[in-house]
Amino acid sequence: MRTLQLLKPDEIIDSVYDIELQRLKEKGIKGLIVDLDNTLVPWQSREVTKELESWVKKVCAAGLQIAIVSNNSSSRVEELSGKLGITCVAKAVKPRRGAFRRIAGKFQMPPHEIAVVGDQLFTDILGGNRCGMYTILVAPLSKKEFIGTKIMRLAERLFIRRS
Ligand SMILES: [Mg+2]
Repeated sequence: MRTLQLLKPDEIIDSVYDIELQRLKEKGIKGLIVDLDNTLVPWQSREVTKELESWVKKVCAAGLQIAIVSNNSSSRVEELSGKLGITCVAKAVKPRRGAFRRIAGKFQMPPHEIAVVGDQLFTDILGGNRCGMYTILVAPLSKKEFIGTKIMRLAERLFIRRS
């Protein structure tokens, strides 16, 4: 079924730090769209770790463009993106395609040259796949989260078990 295909990530890894940047480049990926909460930082965190800072530097040094696309409210998303020195879209309404397309336009790249990285199937992965982008699912950083997210996780677990 097509809908199930759209929920399937191209890769499943533990964390952003496990992304093989050189291998992505060999696949023709030139840009990363990364989720914020539970992907780059724990849910509702305002803290940027040294590890995260140096990872962002590594991504840029590898010649990849990077942007944050988050469904969360703008002030915290902008604060964290600002600290990291990368462009962002807040209140993105993922899995809708608008924010992904906006970043693709900014990067001046076709969708197949962009990888979407996130911890949620129904927002990050579904949205990225709908745009024809490469998709990478990471394990969520923290367990404490919004109740709506918890319900989605349950649905995700059921889906992963069946696929
Ligand atoms: Mg997330």
